[in-house]
Amino acid sequence: MLRLNAHPTGHHFLQIPGPSPVPDRILRAISLPTIDHRGPEFGVLGLKVLADMKKIFKTEQPVMIYPSSGTGAWEAALANVLNPGDHVLMYETGHFAFLWNKLATAMGYRTEVLSLPMPDGWRHGVQADMIEKRLKEDSAHSIKAVCVVHNETSTGVTSDIAAVRRAIDAAKHPALLLVDTISGLAGADFEHDAWGIDVSISGSQKGLMLPPGLGFNALSARAIEVSKTCKTPRAYWGWGEMLEMNKNGYWPSTPNTNLLYGLSEACDMIFAEGLPAIFARHQRWAAGVRAAVNAWGLPIQCADPAVYSPILTGVMTPEGVDADAVRKVIYERFDCSLGTGLGKVKGRMFRIGHLGDSNDLTLVATVAGCEMGLKAAGVPLAGSGVTAIMDYFTRHPGGLAKG
Ligand SMILES: *Cc1c(COP(=O)(O)O)cnc(C)c1O
Repeated sequence: MLRLNAHPTGHHFLQIPGPSPVPDRILRAISLPTIDHRGPEFGVLGLKVLADMKKIFKTEQPVMIYPSSGTGAWEAALANVLNPGDHVLMYETGHFAFLWNKLATAMGYRTEVLSLPMPDGWRHGVQADMIEKRLKEDSAHSIKAVCVVHNETSTGVTSDIAAVRRAIDAAKHPALLLVDTISGLAGADFEHDAWGIDVSISGSQKGLMLPPGLGFNALSARAIEVSKTCKTPRAYWGWGEMLEMNKNGYWPSTPNTNLLYGLSEACDMIFAEGLPAIFARHQRWAAGVRAAVNAWGLPIQCADPAVYSPILTGVMTPEGVDADAVRKVIYERFDCSLGTGLGKVKGRMFRIGHLGDSNDLTLVATVAGCEMGLKAAGVPLAGSGVTAIMDYFTRHPGGLAKG
């Protein structure tokens, strides 16, 4: 029988691909007293986080910060650049792309979904050539936006966003490029300006190491122009008033002040380490975890090594083994949370998050929990994943040794 606050001793292993563990330093920053969001001190905080987020998205253009989940930021992106009933091209890489399509449909947009046939569709990244072909057929330019997910959190597959931009350009098509990097930002390389993205969408609880509650839109000059005349009714999500007030570090309605303290602290930590070092650290962790999964002899959900996610790894369980039953054993025995299989892959796989505030030993222990849980659930394993990840980290030292 579960009771509230009946926590076991030691740290919970929060190894889902978001929310990710929040560093103590960020929790302390969040605990500062809430200040007047119209007072002079707030403006200093507001300007700092708005400038910091431009560096994280690698953009010279404005970034919108909403008190919202990532889903809210999805809605904001669509509402600001589309007219009612507009035709939108979406690419389904997994459950989050599926949910974004569902949201766009609920908002009344006419969506068209591209994907490879299952099961390949959820094991590969965006096929830019399919987008190029479809846009070339659309000589009337009926398609107004192309929507893709940068790091598909339900599968552990990334997509080549620069290739999607090249596909749109090769088709000489004016569609806007909208990219969900809710779980990719600050863990996997992301370049809003260089990749020619019109709206990038993100959230606070993944690579940024914050609790849930902040949603982001990074804009392009063209997206801002389009937003001035497009006709989807919007109020809370509207960019116009936000852009005006953000110039001085303020918001039209009350922003979540304490999460902005946390965001400021997170950005300081990220810039002190440096984005290239952070991306390398995630790639290294991902390779270590994949070494473990390979040693178990279990397939990885991502079938294309060129687009393995640095943020999480999807582990497929053998036919007849319910992945959620394995997760339950690992949670109950070892106080370790893993990501569930979502939508079309429910029960067929589980996800190991390796993002944000983690380290080698946390991941070795996570792999140990998985290995014990898999054995307890009766899954035959080819070999030891724990030995494999230890070997990988020994051969590729990180941590303080890197200075
Ligand atoms: C987490 C996530 C979302 C949803 O964000 P919420 O904050 O749960 O609304 C959307 N897309 C991707 C890729 C995600 O990882």
